[in-house]
Amino acid sequence: MTRTMARDITTELIHHAYQPPAGFEAPQPAVHKASTILFKDVAALRARDWREKTGYTYGLHGTPTTFLLEERIATLEGGNFCALAPSGLAAVALVDQALLSQGDEVLLPENAYGPGIALARGELARWGITHRLYDPMDVAGLAAMIGPATRLVWLEAPGSVTMEFPDLHGLVAAAKARGVATALDNTWGAGIAFRAFDSGVDIVMQALTKFPSGGGDVLMGSVVTRDAALHERIKLTHMRLGLGVSGNDAELVLRSLATISLRYAAQDQAARALAQWLATRPEITRVLHPALEGAPGHAHWRATCTAAAGLFSVMLDARYSDAQVDAFVDALRLFRIGYSWAGPVSLVVPYDLAEMRGPGARQREHLRGHLVRFSLGFEAVPDLQADLAQALERAFKAA
Ligand SMILES: *Cc1c(COP(=O)(O)O)cnc(C)c1O
Repeated sequence: MTRTMARDITTELIHHAYQPPAGFEAPQPAVHKASTILFKDVAALRARDWREKTGYTYGLHGTPTTFLLEERIATLEGGNFCALAPSGLAAVALVDQALLSQGDEVLLPENAYGPGIALARGELARWGITHRLYDPMDVAGLAAMIGPATRLVWLEAPGSVTMEFPDLHGLVAAAKARGVATALDNTWGAGIAFRAFDSGVDIVMQALTKFPSGGGDVLMGSVVTRDAALHERIKLTHMRLGLGVSGNDAELVLRSLATISLRYAAQDQAARALAQWLATRPEITRVLHPALEGAPGHAHWRATCTAAAGLFSVMLDARYSDAQVDAFVDALRLFRIGYSWAGPVSLVVPYDLAEMRGPGARQREHLRGHLVRFSLGFEAVPDLQADLAQALERAFKAA
């Protein structure tokens, strides 16, 4: 470029004339990051509509990188439209805020992801939106609970931590019969274990933080629909709330997405092997894994799913003290103590059921004793089994 007018070097760096050649193609998409998106003239600025994916208006409303991820997640879930949120929990909040108004009621399964219940208790309640918890293993019970104010029923399969697998089709049908919208938290199924929309559900939400990311290094959520009008309602709320995700994070999920089936299958296999081995241990009274014979909702899992996430809980015998259970968790070396799942590192968390679900939880036959939740990483199964064995010996061997 010939410099006709002497401009400051800073100006030259910002308004530089060089353009790389077009047509660069690689398997991995580029990371586009922007707040401002430039328009070639005023007419183009005025013509752009953020609702249509025909162009770009502002970074918050999409870039090539986030559009790509939205389209792929919609495909993963078997839906048509996707909105991305900065975390799985933000995706739950987006669904609640898009669908619920003052005076409405939302029903949540009593084994729902805990922070989703806390959101209803702490935030929705302040806006005059009420909630009640239903027993997800009782379809008739849900049908009986639906009232004139009920606008939304949340579903989860299986439930968080206690892993009961519900009759999804039955629950969705009960809500639909009363014209109530349904939203499934599909983080466990991840678009791999079963086709969520086959149940008739209206909205499929997922914490992309878990399987789609698979790295333990991204927080993101998705809200997928088949219905265009429902998607537009969600997108309007999404826009007004100013929700967005970073291009770098979207690129990480795009990179991991290609291996999601392989990772899901590997962790599924590892979890089943260890769950089966743990079921033979005298310290453990119950293994809560929906693919295991006798687990709560196993028949529904078998009728619905072709796979299972690498996640299960065990009930340690009630005769042990809390201190012994803590000592068991502390004695683990490969299973690290921490929340979340589907990353490379196997994780363990002991849960206080009474604190989490109220005193009623312990009355459930399958929840007697101490609950410890395991999630599988990618370590070799024999190493993980040896780790569990040494920790069980150390914490529970007869004194
Ligand atoms: C992790 C999780 C979420 C929330 O995801 P974040 O990205 O951590 O906010 C929601 N639902 C389920 C079932 C989860 O496991």
